[in-house]
Amino acid sequence: MARETSGRSSYSIGGLAFLYILLVAGLAWFAGSWSRDWALARLQVQGSDRLLTSISQMRLALDQYSYLPFLLTQNTDVHRLLQPESTHQATVNRVLEQINLVAGSSALFVLDAEGKPLAFSNWREEQAFPLESQRDQGYFRQAIAGEQGFELQFYAPQGYARLYMSAPVYTDRLAGVAVMRLDMSQLREQLAIEYPLVIRAADGQLIFKSDTHWPQTREAPLELNNGTVLERVRGDAGVSLQQSVQLDDLGWSVSVLTDIRPAQYRARVVGGSVLGGGVALGLLLLYLRESRQKRRLQLERMQERARSEQQQRDIINTAQVGLIHVDPCGQVQLINPMAMQIFGVSVEHIRNQSILRLLGEGFTALPLKQALGALGTDRFRPLTGLEAVGQRGDGSAFPMMVSIRQMTHHPELGYLVTVIDISRRKRLEQALREANESLEQKVVARTRALEEAQAELVQAGKLAALGRMSASVVHELNQPMTAMRTYLAIAERLLAQPEALNKNLKQQEQMLDRMALITGQLKIFAYRKPERIEPVSLQQVTTQVLQMFRGRFEELALQLHYTPPPVDLLVAGDNARYEQVLINLIKNACDAMSSLPGPHHLWLELVNTGERSIIFDVRDNGPGIDADIREQLFEPFFTTKEVGQGLGLGLAIVSSILRDLGGDIRILDTSEGACFRIKVPLYAAADQGNSEVKA
Ligand code: ADP
Repeated sequence: MARETSGRSSYSIGGLAFLYILLVAGLAWFAGSWSRDWALARLQVQGSDRLLTSISQMRLALDQYSYLPFLLTQNTDVHRLLQPESTHQATVNRVLEQINLVAGSSALFVLDAEGKPLAFSNWREEQAFPLESQRDQGYFRQAIAGEQGFELQFYAPQGYARLYMSAPVYTDRLAGVAVMRLDMSQLREQLAIEYPLVIRAADGQLIFKSDTHWPQTREAPLELNNGTVLERVRGDAGVSLQQSVQLDDLGWSVSVLTDIRPAQYRARVVGGSVLGGGVALGLLLLYLRESRQKRRLQLERMQERARSEQQQRDIINTAQVGLIHVDPCGQVQLINPMAMQIFGVSVEHIRNQSILRLLGEGFTALPLKQALGALGTDRFRPLTGLEAVGQRGDGSAFPMMVSIRQMTHHPELGYLVTVIDISRRKRLEQALREANESLEQKVVARTRALEEAQAELVQAGKLAALGRMSASVVHELNQPMTAMRTYLAIAERLLAQPEALNKNLKQQEQMLDRMALITGQLKIFAYRKPERIEPVSLQQVTTQVLQMFRGRFEELALQLHYTPPPVDLLVAGDNARYEQVLINLIKNACDAMSSLPGPHHLWLELVNTGERSIIFDVRDNGPGIDADIREQLFEPFFTTKEVGQGLGLGLAIVSSILRDLGGDIRILDTSEGACFRIKVPLYAAADQGNSEVKA
């Protein structure tokens, strides 16, 4: 249960920890993103400042050059140069050279009204220039039209741009054009910038770039939390913020790049700090929780220990055996109330006293003395259930059972002596012993009396059986004897009538046969076992016996249920005995059924044929057999028939014959009538080699 709870709480802790980590990670992400946006917004402001500064610096620089053509138009040497047949070219060349040098422009030149160059500041290096006419150039056409010329020219292969500014030169007429040329790359010196800047014409051609590694690829725009959308480009140094402005008057676009790495770094630092702080806070909370739980557990354990100690004390105090704690020197340290009661002493009286004194030095048995003597030494052996004589405080002796054991977990604490007062048990044992002895005597006397009674009963039984037999035999024999006497008396008178005498003698012979039958039956008990075991056809013997009863069956209108077995079964024994068995059983069934009105049925059934024996049932629908006489049925001379009707020998003979042949007979429970089940050995199973039956 406890484990289940702790398991559940560890699951919930795990779930909480997971949620917390998610929360901290979310916070860290949010803080990082917020701080990045904040830093980017600042970078954007910084970029805007830079853009404005760059534009104003550029305008300032261009303004510095824009007056140069005008300055030349006012120069008298230039005016002279534009006079027909002028010889001032060399002079103007030098003037232009000096002004160009001072102004910082790339070149200054003067064209006549046809666009033909007349003087050129760079006359020393660019010798070929003065030969070419400039009449097709935009800046010339603008100036010759009387306006200020302004034209950018791009030189694709080299990728540079030149700015031309021009102004018409008037003498007494429009005599020519003064031109200033500025290589845009020269602007770099004019623009004090340490960040990437690019200027492009309206058609996108590059006018100026501060950095040779200007980024090329555009990145997807970035939207800040406040809705501002920032443009980004990727270059060699990573991703930068690009801010651009279109100059309406010039049609140029000016762009600056701001490195956003500081913003990313800041986002990482802030996100990392939040994550670190969150994790540290989580760990701190975990630590606090763990330490609180530990304290609680400690408290619970202490309470549990106190409870368990209290319980132990209670157990010791209420124990129904005497418990004595003895230190390794054999001195009593603690004694429970039961021990005090047994010995009749108090704690104060016995504490720190030798245990020997408590147990009674004079009475203590030798093994106990030896165990007590060995306390605190290696010779000590635990003592269990020793019966000894103890001494109470008043000096009286009592029987006790003592055990001494060393404290299992803390041997240094000493020993525990257990004492049980066994006076009551001893008394009971004594009483039991005495009761046993008296009981034994009674049993012997009773057994003797029973044996005598049984002997008397047996004797009485034997006498009764003998009496029954005598009565039956006397009756059975008396009847033919009386008849014979009568026939004999008649015979004397019939001596003269041979025919009547012959009939009379026949009747006497029948009487004698009847007596012979009775004695013959009794003889079966005298010669129990058959002399030879022979194969007897069960089918044949059954048919013979049924034949004998044909008249009786008709008399009773009895229906016979008998199906001869398909194969002839040979049983072991002799024909006469099997006949005897079947005759007795069928006769009994007929006798029983004759007491009831029909219809009468008799079943002869072969129930089972085994390897060694067969089972055969003889069943009828007569009155059946009462349960209380079943036991006696097979006893000789037991009969329910009237005197003269039966000797009570039939079933005794059947049982005796079957037992002698190795079979048996028993009565089955049936719903109607009686059923006798006989088991007889098969001939094949009997001893065929020597079929002499041993006596
Ligand atoms: P007897 O036939 O001379 O009485 P038996 O030993 O053959 O002697 O039978 C003993 C008794 O068993 C009979 O008196 C009769 O009460 C009882 N008995 C035997 N067979 C049957 C039967 N088929 N139905 C009812 N009772 C029977």
